[in-house]
Amino acid sequence: RAIDDALRARVVIGLSGFKGPLIGPDSPDYDRARTVWNAMVDKHPGLIVRCTDTEDVVTAVNAARRLGVAFSVRGGGHSVSGKAHTDGGMTIDLSLMRQVQVVAEQHVVHAEGGCLLADVDEATEPHGLVVPTGTVSETGLGGLALGGGAGWLTRKHGLTCDNFLSLEVVLASGEVLEVSPAQHPDLFWALRGGGGNFGIVTRFTLQAHPFGPAMRIGVSLYRPQEAKQALREYAAKVPSLPRTVSWHGGLKRHMPPLPFVPDELVGERLMMLFSMWLDDADDPQGVDYTERLAQVGEPCLTATTVLPFGTGMQKALDPEFADGHRNYTKEAHLTALTDEAIDRLVDFWATMPMRGEAQVICLGGAINDVPEEAAAFSNRGAPYWLNLALHWDDPACDDDYIGQIRNAMTDLTSWTGPGAYINALNADESDRVVDAYGGPDNYARLGRIKALYDPGNFFRVNHNIAPVFT
Ligand code: FAD
Repeated sequence: RAIDDALRARVVIGLSGFKGPLIGPDSPDYDRARTVWNAMVDKHPGLIVRCTDTEDVVTAVNAARRLGVAFSVRGGGHSVSGKAHTDGGMTIDLSLMRQVQVVAEQHVVHAEGGCLLADVDEATEPHGLVVPTGTVSETGLGGLALGGGAGWLTRKHGLTCDNFLSLEVVLASGEVLEVSPAQHPDLFWALRGGGGNFGIVTRFTLQAHPFGPAMRIGVSLYRPQEAKQALREYAAKVPSLPRTVSWHGGLKRHMPPLPFVPDELVGERLMMLFSMWLDDADDPQGVDYTERLAQVGEPCLTATTVLPFGTGMQKALDPEFADGHRNYTKEAHLTALTDEAIDRLVDFWATMPMRGEAQVICLGGAINDVPEEAAAFSNRGAPYWLNLALHWDDPACDDDYIGQIRNAMTDLTSWTGPGAYINALNADESDRVVDAYGGPDNYARLGRIKALYDPGNFFRVNHNIAPVFT
C-alpha cells in the first residue's frame, strides 16, 4: 500500500533504531533523492530511507513487510526502466553503503551493496587489480552485477556475476544469509543473473584479477559512407580474435570529446571502432593487434594510446551518459552481423535525428567458459549485443524518438534473438522478461527458488520473477 501522511508516521515508528536519514516529500533533499539517471522516470516515493549498514537494511525490510508497504531498492539509480523507486512506496536507498575493502594478496574484493563501479575501480587500481564490471563508472554495482554485468573486460574475465565468490543477502523475512557455492547454492545460482528478485545484497565478495594499471587501446573513426565496409571487415575478423582482445563499435550521432578525438571531429556523425588489449599494456602482441585493427576499412582518423584503466578508460564515457536526460534504449542479442544487417544498422544511424548511438558489443571469450546451466544468466553464446539509444531533453519528442528506436530494432529482427539482457529492458518490455531470464525452463527454475526465499513476492519492483510453488 502507498504511504500517506498517517502511514508515514507509523513507518517512521516501525523504523525505530534506523541510523540513516529518512527523506519524505517535505524534505529539501527529496527531489534530489528521487532523481535517477533516466529523466523519463519521474516517481514520487512516499519515503526514502538511506541505509548506513546491513542492520539498517534489515530494519527497513522488516518495517515495510510488517506494515504492508510496497518498496523498491535503489543501488546506483541507472536502470533505464526506473526500478529504483516506486510511486507512494518506500525506497530502500543503498547510496550511503559504498565501502570497498581489497584483500590484495588474495585478489579478493568486498564491496557494499550500494557501490558504484567507480568505487570498486578506485579501490582496486592502486593494487594492480581489477574486477570486471561495466563501461560507465557511475552505474550501480548492485543492479549491474545481479543482472550479469558485461564490460570492457568480459572477454578475458567473464561477467561480473561470474566473479562472485559470496554475497551477504537480506531476505524478505529480514534474515541475513551468507550465500556462496557452498552455502545456499540454489540462491547463489539465482543471484547470478536473477536481478533483485531474491533479497537485498548488502555485500558482494568478488574475485579480482591482476591488471594494468593501464590499458592499451586502438581507435579508428569512420564517416557514414565508409562505415559499412569497415563493419564488414570488423565482422569478418572478430571470430578469430583471442580473448585478450575486445573490439566494439560505436556509431555516434555526435562524436563526444574523447581523449583521442581532435576538436574538429567532436560533434560529427562518426562511427568509432575501438579495440582493447586486455593484458599487459606493453606486450608487443597488444601493440600489434591494436594497431592492425585500427586500420580496417578507410578510417578518417586512427589512434593508439594507453589509458589508465580505472580512472581513464572506465570514466571515458561518463560525460556522454550523464544523468538527467530523457533516454530510450533497446538491446538485442545479435546472432550474426551479416552484410544486410550492417546495411540496415548503418542506414538507421545515418539518419539518426538526435544525440544517440548504436553500439555493437563484441562478446565471446571467457563468458562462454561458464556452462549455461551454471548460473541464472542465459544466452551466453550470443556473439554480439546491439544497443540502440537516443538521448534528448524535450518531452514533446518522446513518441517520435521512442518510435524510431522501436522501428529500427524491428527492422533488424531477422538477426536478433534468442534472449535479451535483463539489465537493458525498458519499462515497456514486460513481454521480454521470460526470454531475458533464459526462456520458460530457466524462468520456472528461478520461480521455484523465488518461492523458497521470497514466497510473498515482496521484492517485486524489478523485472519480476513470479514465485512457483510445487
Ligand atoms: P538501480 O536503478 O538502482 O537498480 C536497478 C535494479 O537493481 C532494481 O531492481 C534494484 O532493486 C536492483 N538492485 C540494485 N542494487 C541492489 C542490491 N544491492 N541488492 C538487490 N537489488 C539491487 N550494464 C552492463 O552490464 N554493462 C554496462 O556497461 C552497462 N552500462 C550502462 C551504462 C548506463 C549509462 C546505464 C544507464 C546502464 C548501463 N548498464 C550496463 C545497465 C545496468 O547494468 C542496469 O541499468 C542496472 O540495473 C543498473 O544498476 P543500478 O544499481 O545503477 O540501478
